[in-house]
Amino acid sequence: YESKRLKNRAHLFQNPMQDSYLRNLHIEQALRGALENHELYMVYQPQITGNGTFYGVEALVRWNSPVLGNVPPDAFIPVAETSGQMPRLGRYIIESVFRDIKKIQNTHQLMFYTSINLSVRQLLEADFATYFISRMQKENISGVWLTLEITESLLIEDIPSVLPLLHTLKSYGVQLSMDDFGTGYSSLSMLRMLPIDELKIDKSFMDAAVADRSAQQMVQSIVTIGKNLEMDVVAEGVETREQLEMLTHLGCDRFQGYYFARPLDTEALVQFITEQQTFFDT
Ligand code: C2E
Ligand code: MG
Ligand code: MG
Ligand code: MG
Repeated sequence: YESKRLKNRAHLFQNPMQDSYLRNLHIEQALRGALENHELYMVYQPQITGNGTFYGVEALVRWNSPVLGNVPPDAFIPVAETSGQMPRLGRYIIESVFRDIKKIQNTHQLMFYTSINLSVRQLLEADFATYFISRMQKENISGVWLTLEITESLLIEDIPSVLPLLHTLKSYGVQLSMDDFGTGYSSLSMLRMLPIDELKIDKSFMDAAVADRSAQQMVQSIVTIGKNLEMDVVAEGVETREQLEMLTHLGCDRFQGYYFARPLDTEALVQFITEQQTFFDT
């Protein structure tokens, strides 16, 4: 009997489905106290204009858990969503970002565009727009400095219910970005229905963009779609000079990636901005 139980246990940990189930359970539990314990913080990845100058940042959340170590957002955001913790986590993220950019503004007299990733669950909260706008006003941050990044995991069925909210945010100057563009299946119909200002080409296109002709044509098509719809097109995951040259040639407006900078803490970000590196030969 004992040996059978052990065998089952061993089996449990060899089964990838079960493993991820257990891992998610650990994540779910550890996440419950993470906000109070200040285990989460934001980092900021610079975005660069077509002229090679600093444009703004994308805010990305980090979790350093004493129990689980560094857990990447790809691993814990989905768990926060399914375990009902996203409303609270989402607000924590927004408030952290606003606090950080206000602090940089007050201490260094620096102002720049900031993009915040939104989980679809946040958009489905009935009072999200009211909440977001009241936080903006409380911190005295104008919406024109803010972009909300949404992914294509938003379902077509959900669009009618989020549209009024998106239009309210836009009336305060907030811009909307379609993140990871090109990876989902509903891209084009979503673009037609949503008031999107910016497309972010998914980084899965970057590797192939240098060598692979069909990947280049995909990027070219995305740029063309963006231009025709009067949207800015941003390339994410730019790691090499060759990619940058190709993407510039294809007409991307802005760039983000390790080639320019990794996501930085606020101190490193201030240093990055004040050094005002220019990345292109002029
Ligand atoms: P994303 O919004 O598409 O963010 C871009 C991801 O690519 C980030 O990973 C960033 O660190 C990474 N990255 C940037 N440049 C490069 C590069 O040159 N090469 C490579 N290989 N990677 C690069 P990260 O920070 O691990 O975030 C992963 C995803 O988790 C994000 O994808 C976003 O969907 C989600 N996420 C991150 N922070 C937040 C947040 O505050 N709220 C929500 N709702 N989701 C977030
Ligand atoms: Mg993003
Ligand atoms: Mg992305
Ligand atoms: Mg992504």
